[in-house]
Amino acid sequence: MVTMDYLSTLTQHFKQLYSNLMPIPCLLCGSGSSDDGLCQACSAQLPIIKHACPRCASPLSQTMLCGSCLNKPPEQDASFSLFRYQPPIDRLILDLKYHDKLVLSRLFATHMVEQLKNRVLPQLLIPIPLHPRRLRERGYNQSLELAKQLSKQLAIPVRHDILMRIRDTPPQASLPFTERKKNMKQAFQLNKTKFPDHIALIDDVLTTGHTVNVAAKTLRQAGVENIEVWTIARTVKHDHSH
Ligand SMILES: [Zn+2]
Ligand SMILES: [Zn+2]
Repeated sequence: MVTMDYLSTLTQHFKQLYSNLMPIPCLLCGSGSSDDGLCQACSAQLPIIKHACPRCASPLSQTMLCGSCLNKPPEQDASFSLFRYQPPIDRLILDLKYHDKLVLSRLFATHMVEQLKNRVLPQLLIPIPLHPRRLRERGYNQSLELAKQLSKQLAIPVRHDILMRIRDTPPQASLPFTERKKNMKQAFQLNKTKFPDHIALIDDVLTTGHTVNVAAKTLRQAGVENIEVWTIARTVKHDHSH
């Protein structure tokens, strides 16, 4: 008997085979010359952050602590973001998140690894989890897909089963700024008691940082000494008043 499981495995298999044989058209310009989502010309024009605050990854004209980290540093010890969150990165991240363009996780990871490989690397990668209900709706967690690719390329283990989302918080973007902090309180729980000293949290975009801040606090309370936050993109701060 042919089960649904078997059929979907077969479909996956053919998709894989097809994508190995046929180049995927570039997601930005449509030209047919890429194996990881973008052609070389489009890839070369992405807005890579050259200098940033090492603590919060805000893009700056030189590498130095930003005013807001001098004033009130975030929970994490260091942050790394590859791109400025601006076109076409915003669109590509939406594709990765909602439109099944998982091929992008490999592309983003490859570019991230290029910049990360000379650092002292963490011992464990933990993706920022989705609440189980959101995971069911979406079918996958884009941060986990990215973390898996980073794990493979950097040879660092990834665990998605130790930091759990216990409250189904409304998406941060749908809330006014002042509500966002409240929204995140006690959103995470740990499923483990012993952790390595140096961990990187993996997410797609670093915006206000409230989500990762709460996740980092949760790890800190469990004794993790060195916490980094790695994201594909960083929004640019225009307002330094908070
Ligand atoms: Zn292109
Ligand atoms: Zn900063």
